[in-house]
Amino acid sequence: MSGNRTFTMIKPDGVEANNIGNILQMISDAGFTIKAMKLKTLTTEQAKKFYEVHAERPFYMELVEYMTSGPIVAAILEKDNAVADFRTLIGATDPSEAEAGTIRAKYAESKAKNAVHGSDSDENAAIEGAFHFSDEEIVG
Ligand code: UDP
Ligand code: MG
Repeated sequence: MSGNRTFTMIKPDGVEANNIGNILQMISDAGFTIKAMKLKTLTTEQAKKFYEVHAERPFYMELVEYMTSGPIVAAILEKDNAVADFRTLIGATDPSEAEAGTIRAKYAESKAKNAVHGSDSDENAAIEGAFHFSDEEIVG
């Protein structure tokens, strides 16, 4: 995946609160194009692997339980400067610290249940996109 792509998930709280449409609208309005997308429920194994970098953090098992508690929407998004612009669009991890008008300010429940994931680097965007999608599932 090239540097103009990022990876996102609408997390279980966002799906549960019926915010898939609202969040995808914000993503489209911000100029991102969807290159791949699917609704799926992560297995414990998949969630542990996806969040492996946080394995030593105190919230890790809680995070894995939450991320497997219901379906998520996974997507690969394209735009110039995708990773940084998407992090700006979603806002801070803790919605109480997120800029007004960001996805997390509008739709996140808490620092843990914060509605969306966004990759933090081009390298991780590529790894995370490939974790969820095969080449045939990504449109050209
Ligand atoms: N998280 C949590 N408690 C914390 C920090 C993070 O439950 O104190 C969860 C939260 O869902 C967050 C995810 O772990 O989105 C990954 O944390 P990270 O620091 O990478 O935040 P993000 O990149 O998602 O803003
Ligand atoms: Mg992160």
